Amino acid sequence: MANSRYDLAIIGSGPGGYVAAIRAAQLKMKVAVVERDRPGGVCLNWGCIPSKALLNSAEVMEEIRGAAKEHGIQTGEITVDFKRVIQRSRDVADKLQRGVRFLFKKNKIDLFEANATIAGPHILALSQAEGKPAPTVATIEADKLMIAAGSGERLFPGMQIGDGVMTSKEALVHDRIPASIIVIGAGAIGLEIGYFYQAFGSQVTIIELEKQMLPGFDAEIAEELRRNFVRRKVTVLLGHGYKSMQKVGDKWSVTVSVDGAEKTLEAENVLIAVGRVALSTNLGLEKVGIEVERGFIKVDDSFRTTAKTIYAIGDVIRPPLLAHKASAEGVAAVEIMAGVREPGFDLLSIAGCIYCEPEVATVGLSEAEAKARGIEVKVGKFPFSALGKAIATNSTQGFVKLVVSSQYGEVVGCQIIGNHATDLISEVVLGKTLEATNVEFGKTVHPHPTMSEAIMQAALAADGEAIDI
Ligand code: FAD
Repeated sequence: MANSRYDLAIIGSGPGGYVAAIRAAQLKMKVAVVERDRPGGVCLNWGCIPSKALLNSAEVMEEIRGAAKEHGIQTGEITVDFKRVIQRSRDVADKLQRGVRFLFKKNKIDLFEANATIAGPHILALSQAEGKPAPTVATIEADKLMIAAGSGERLFPGMQIGDGVMTSKEALVHDRIPASIIVIGAGAIGLEIGYFYQAFGSQVTIIELEKQMLPGFDAEIAEELRRNFVRRKVTVLLGHGYKSMQKVGDKWSVTVSVDGAEKTLEAENVLIAVGRVALSTNLGLEKVGIEVERGFIKVDDSFRTTAKTIYAIGDVIRPPLLAHKASAEGVAAVEIMAGVREPGFDLLSIAGCIYCEPEVATVGLSEAEAKARGIEVKVGKFPFSALGKAIATNSTQGFVKLVVSSQYGEVVGCQIIGNHATDLISEVVLGKTLEATNVEFGKTVHPHPTMSEAIMQAALAADGEAIDI
């Protein structure tokens, strides 16, 4: 591989790094990417994609076990080859990882499979990464550098992985259904994996320090989701803080505190899902004066770090830690670099999605957040139970909430809980980007019967004009 000088050299090939690299190549930059693990980053290999492949298996399982009977479809005894469930998920990740390699070749991007550190304002130093051959070059020079190093699992002091204690990474390759599992943390990852194991018959207990699932989300949505989990016989313990865990016999005993008292819970496995931390250490940031705040690399409106020639994007710079945010920042950063886009980035138009059952999707402000910012709002709400498509497809759980500015009618936020919520939200994201009002959403003729009609009806409901309720 040629070791000529590049226009841009990127650390990390996750959805931030690989998308930035391709957009930069489209803009005629000569690009190198350094990746120490697998092309595609956490998202393709250890996050979004393999977890959704597993969740799809859970949905199939639920359809066969539950819904089929209602449709008059008889099934025999259901058996599960769980190794196959895991293997399918790994196959999906492998396929997409190969896809990233193909795209690099197609766009003439040089991929170096190595560990990178910053050796100067224009230089990356390469060293051998675990399980990879020694790199073919020791350094890469580029006019600009970009850090897209992502994030890793957060652990509390004293937590150790192994012997049945897992983070999401171990869970994605764990090929045995646990009889029982304690999930520490009721954020997106804990809920998705908790739902997955419950669907395959595990006894799942979720503990969460905050008083609601999905801390920070709209409280009504969080409560609706809690009710659904409880209906599925998941034990949800809110206001329970993790204290410690120890192996007792062949089980894990987890001590939690609740209202000042302690209690212990037991399970075969423990999943730690207490958040993620930016991977901003061991990159050589101090060598070039890059500042970090609460672990995240500081950037300006142009994604430039406190070192002029070095940019940063994705999980390593700020929440929300989401793949599409990382990709959008990657595109924005290289376009700003190339002078084809103005600085700035609208974090409020980044949707947050949770793919458990029922799905949750949100964008922009909740009613409470809008009020906290002094924005006067009205809310249009529409339940799926009043929608023809939802009734026909047994998807009546949940609702759409549209948060609308009272002054101008523009939609400032939306929260959806229900089947296909994660697909439905994109309509609202587009509307928000175009500063659409609830009247425009309401006047847009939505095809019938579809789940998307709930958004139109919620828009009408904000003015008391919903038809079907
Ligand atoms: P990453 O994807 O973390 O990629 C960073 C890459 O940089 C890694 O491959 C790493 O090996 C490499 N790297 C780091 N340091 C170095 C170095 N020094 N040298 C060389 N290489 C280096 N997000 C969603 O939007 N939707 C989802 O459904 C979703 N599901 C998730 C499920 C799970 C279980 C997890 C863990 C995460 C999920 N996420 C989801 C979050 C999503 O994966 C991340 O937000 C996204 O991957 C961040 O992209 P990134 O490019 O910033 O970093």
